[in-house]
Amino acid sequence: MSSSSSNPGTYYRRGMNAERGMSKQCWCGEPSDNFTSGSATNLGKLYYCCAKRYHKRHLFKWVDECLVEEVEDIKSVISGVNRDISEVRLNVSRLENKMKT
Ligand SMILES: [Zn+2]
Repeated sequence: MSSSSSNPGTYYRRGMNAERGMSKQCWCGEPSDNFTSGSATNLGKLYYCCAKRYHKRHLFKWVDECLVEEVEDIKSVISGVNRDISEVRLNVSRLENKMKT
């Protein structure tokens, strides 16, 4: 997992939608904002984009796609946390056994 810096240059080279999940900021420095699509093909569909609302070459992402990415990422985080927890449990029970003897 690469956590890139907020260097606008790297954002631009990697493409607008390279960031997984919700991006809080467009590469231009403007915060991202949520909007509802008014186009006939995607009527009512949520998206978020650059607060300047420049769709071309600025941040634009469908919210549902972001959510899928976020859930995927969270799943892998949770499985890592679960592994950690079982390791800690094992260590605790080892320590408990040591204390008993
Ligand atoms: Zn922008």
